Amino acid sequence: MATKKKSAKLLRCPTCAQLVQFSDEDFPFCSDRCRKIDLGKWASGVYKISSPILDPDVLEDLGGMGGDRGSNDE
Ligand SMILES: [Zn+2]
Repeated sequence: MATKKKSAKLLRCPTCAQLVQFSDEDFPFCSDRCRKIDLGKWASGVYKISSPILDPDVLEDLGGMGGDRGSNDE
């Protein structure tokens, strides 16, 4: 028999695999930081990084180098 799920949807953050609630403003990421890290992966990782980098600061640095920082408002 099927297990009834709760109304709250959960997904794992693509960056750090933490559980994220559907209602979270940064869904499907657990935080704005993880969202930027993921974007950085796509922006720079596809071209020159073939092995996973676990240091978020490195990824943020790469992300800042590649594109404009117009949306990096914190
Ligand atoms: Zn995360």
